[in-house]
Amino acid sequence: MPVNGLPPYDDDNIFAKILRGDIPCRKVFEDEWALAFHDIAPQAPLHVLVVPRGRYCSFADFSAAASPEEIAGFTRALGQVARDLGLEADGYRIIANMGEHSGQEVPHYHAHILAGRPLGKMLPA
Ligand code: AMP
Repeated sequence: MPVNGLPPYDDDNIFAKILRGDIPCRKVFEDEWALAFHDIAPQAPLHVLVVPRGRYCSFADFSAAASPEEIAGFTRALGQVARDLGLEADGYRIIANMGEHSGQEVPHYHAHILAGRPLGKMLPA
């Protein structure tokens, strides 16, 4: 359900197609709540995307409309992916883009996990 004037969910977005198995991905993790796979254009030595299975177009939509079980399940999946990939010792960064100013390209909520080298400042100066 759209919230706060956000556009309705688009079932033809690329991550919806990946979740349905219509197009392939380099999967690293899946459970009841989330699917994680390598980003097709990595911006760090390790760049994985974690997407909830539910039809949410952004963090704004997910945080407002997802059930407590979905939010908990997704958050635990996000942490487990990083743990399973062995990222906790050196650390990692999680980014979620929301809306136009963030540059969000794919209208299905997702978190980026970036790791594998010191990642520098959070934003360019
Ligand atoms: P965002 O700008 O936050 O919406 O991020 C979208 C991300 O999806 C970008 O980092 C893209 O490189 C990535 N991406 C787009 N298509 C695919 C795909 N088919 N498989 C994996 N990653 C993709």
